[in-house]
Amino acid sequence: MYLPTIGLEIHSILKTRTKMFCSCPNDPRERHPNVNVCPVCLGHPGVLPTMNQEAILSVIKLGLALGGTIAVNSHFDRKSYFYPDLPKGYQISQYEQTLVVGGVLKGVRIRRIHLEEDAGRLLHELPGESNKIDASYVDFNRAGVPLMELVTEPDIKTADEAVAFAKELQLILRYLNVSRADMEEGEMRVEANISIRAKETEEWGTKVELKNINSFKAVYEAIHYELRRQEELLEEGKRVAQETRGWNEKTKKTESQRSKESAHDYRYFPEPDLPELELSLFDLESIKRHLPELPEAKRSRFGKEFGLTVSQIELLVEDREFSDYFEEAASELETFDLELTSLVLLYNYLTSDLKGIMRERGVGFSELKIPPEHLTHLVALIARGELSSRIAKDLLLRMFEQGDDPETLLKESGMKLMSNESDLRGIVATVLEANPQVVIDFKKGKQNSIQFLIGQVMAKTKGQASPNVAKKLLVDELEKLVDQNQK
Ligand code: ADP
Ligand code: MG
Ligand code: ZN
Repeated sequence: MYLPTIGLEIHSILKTRTKMFCSCPNDPRERHPNVNVCPVCLGHPGVLPTMNQEAILSVIKLGLALGGTIAVNSHFDRKSYFYPDLPKGYQISQYEQTLVVGGVLKGVRIRRIHLEEDAGRLLHELPGESNKIDASYVDFNRAGVPLMELVTEPDIKTADEAVAFAKELQLILRYLNVSRADMEEGEMRVEANISIRAKETEEWGTKVELKNINSFKAVYEAIHYELRRQEELLEEGKRVAQETRGWNEKTKKTESQRSKESAHDYRYFPEPDLPELELSLFDLESIKRHLPELPEAKRSRFGKEFGLTVSQIELLVEDREFSDYFEEAASELETFDLELTSLVLLYNYLTSDLKGIMRERGVGFSELKIPPEHLTHLVALIARGELSSRIAKDLLLRMFEQGDDPETLLKESGMKLMSNESDLRGIVATVLEANPQVVIDFKKGKQNSIQFLIGQVMAKTKGQASPNVAKKLLVDELEKLVDQNQK
């Protein structure tokens, strides 16, 4: 039996207006190569860096959110290495006196969080070109964008725990609005350090560092694979080599990239072109007070206030805008005289119907024309039996397109609920005649055959019948039939 030990190193591109040490725009999704560049981020000789205060503030916010300690004294260091995407020949990073020390998330201790700059990107194939090229291109748009790195203690034991940690960190980065943190876009990158040791040994095993992981699924698969690989080695009496391995998405294996370098290979020393950080400029108490509500706090509050299930709450909390919208809509329940029980109806119309339309049309909450109170209004009409679900769906689409409130649209469109008993009586009779077997089933006590009959009435009226009135009429008629039988 072997015990796994896992520690994570997570990089995230911060969502600042400009790069870390120059005034070039910070746009990691820019598709035209080498448009956001200047002599500073291209590493021309003689240029001088200036610090981005917004980036420092972002890391401070994250540190406070995770319960870490913000440094009193902190500075940048030079980390020297050669790679074609690094024009200066060194990266400005932090080695000693990092901005944040300590903190905890999901029971995993955080060792430190520091600030550095990203490198450029090498392109070994040109997008859209069928012929492979014999050279590589380099795009410096990302060179010098602010990057935060968070390092955990090796407190993680399973691939699932590692994924859960990374997902929660992504959510926090998004709630704090400091990073878009999309793994597929390379805005959040997870590296896993993994070792195993025999149960009876005290000392940790030799660790392997996994890189090249581009999704949460890959985090899971790569760790899972690597743990098995190391176990097999030890079982065969072999040793695990200390090295960096890359996850290969095609073969679903980790592959050796290079033997691990040590800190002294980088020749770290304090960055001479930058002064010490002036951290006294930041009012930590006030920053802390103004942090938004974090996901965990929101989960427990939603549980208490709305009584939704854990998975319903998770679906809301996963997306801050989505949960804000729900909360605003829920706060309108009273305006429309709705009980808290209508909340599930509201939840369903938001999470399936409205979200469905938004996804289909590619519209986000910022462009959405339906204010939350209109959705609650729609739910109120449904709850009062004034709308069939068919009309409600049509109406929601009109609300989405026109932005008016449901009552106005209902009048305007001529979509009308048939709630007049005399209008529906004939249709109910036709439906009963056409379904003798269902009527027999009902007489035998099969209560839910009534749902089928309501469905038939709805179909015959193209969804315009009031389900409440249809039900009432059907029940009346069926009971008459049962009475006749018993006589
Ligand atoms: P390095 O100097 O090689 O970068 P660090 O001590 O800085 O190593 O740790 C880097 C990461 O590796 C941290 O997340 C840490 O928790 C993790 N780690 C350290 N030792 C081990 C180990 N034996 N097994 C698994 N993870 C480890
Ligand atoms: Mg390290
Ligand atoms: Zn620049």
